[in-house]
Amino acid sequence: MPPRPVASPPRRITRSSLARFRYGDANDSSSKENSTPPPATDIEDVIPSATTTRKRKRTTVIEPPSTSSPRRIVKTEEIETKVAIPSAARRQRKPARKTVDADTGEAKVSAPSDWEEMYDTVKAMRGPGGAAANAAVDTMGCERLAEESASPRDRRFQTLVALMLSSQTKDTTNAVAMMRLQTELPAHAPGAPAGLNLENMLAVDPDVLNKLIWAVGFHNNKTKYLKQAAVILRDQWDGDIPDSIQGLTALPGVGPKMAHLCLSAAWDRTEGIGVDVHVHRITNLWGWHSTKNPEETRMALQSWLPRDRWRDINWLLVGLGQTVCLPVGRRCGDCELGLKGLCKAAEKKKVLEGRRIRESVKVEKGEESDDGADVKVEEREEEEVVERDVVVNEKVEGGLKTESETPNPLTEASPEQREASAGKRRKSKKT
Ligand code: SF4
Repeated sequence: MPPRPVASPPRRITRSSLARFRYGDANDSSSKENSTPPPATDIEDVIPSATTTRKRKRTTVIEPPSTSSPRRIVKTEEIETKVAIPSAARRQRKPARKTVDADTGEAKVSAPSDWEEMYDTVKAMRGPGGAAANAAVDTMGCERLAEESASPRDRRFQTLVALMLSSQTKDTTNAVAMMRLQTELPAHAPGAPAGLNLENMLAVDPDVLNKLIWAVGFHNNKTKYLKQAAVILRDQWDGDIPDSIQGLTALPGVGPKMAHLCLSAAWDRTEGIGVDVHVHRITNLWGWHSTKNPEETRMALQSWLPRDRWRDINWLLVGLGQTVCLPVGRRCGDCELGLKGLCKAAEKKKVLEGRRIRESVKVEKGEESDDGADVKVEEREEEEVVERDVVVNEKVEGGLKTESETPNPLTEASPEQREASAGKRRKSKKT
């Protein structure tokens, strides 16, 4: 009996054996000698850039110039449009950070990368025709709810009330509550006008006031705060609202955000940034800082943002948060910050889709893409000539019919009949 072959044990897979596959053929001695690995390739360089291809077919029937011509040309044109989706250049993003000047030893806060471009981009989006235009805050924000016809003192009081009602409440709901107060708050004395002013607020029964503002969040607490604040304004501020942050924050239910917004809107003085949930959420999404609450965000922003932007940033970001950068279901595909690669929190899938749609629209319109050469339009034409068989002599009952007597199917038949006969001829040619 011949000896049985001894089964060899399974070979171990080691890192070095895998490396041979990585760096070249294991049997190639030259590759063994040359152990220097080839330069590493970024995986994004290997993956082809995202493109999309769209095909359209266009058929043109060219009628003969005169009825005597027997030829008709059916031209089928297939247009293939390749749209390359441009990818934004990779950016280095740095948050706001403390740095020390090497010469002076002075500590200062450096602004986050690209902040100015981001600020200007949001400003453009909030402008007419922008993706974030027409936000609720533009027409129903607290600064816009005071009555134009009211006296300056009553307007300031109304702005303060609007801000006190606005916490935990949508702008639309807040606007409805303000409208009720402006029209239904009972007059404090016979013959006096009804509506929202300090005197009527002091005189109104808390239950009536609570019913008028029931739609806003925490209306029971807000009723209490409004009544207490009215007394303070009468006793300590001569019936007007305070013109300082300290005075405003001393009122019940008024925090720093409201105080800064109120000072800007009512007294046209900006001493700080009004940071609400949108400003806090969005600036953290952008990676400008990592803060735990709106007050920390305010301090962080004020440490580097130029003062001339302090007033507008609230309006810009609240509008962005209400229209595009929504708390749930952000629209990164419509957001210029995402499309330009400026936002580190952009949802990539939505941004790619947004870029694809934008480039497709440009191709349809025949416009140039943002980066010029990335949009390619390839056209391929196929021409099919359908030639009518010319009947010279045809046998018919009772003798021969000459060409001159043969009816011209192109001139005498209806378009449907012409098309049907052309189809038949094509079929018979194929067979
Ligand atoms: S890209 Fe997306 S996450 Fe960034 S600001 Fe725009 S909507 Fe918000």
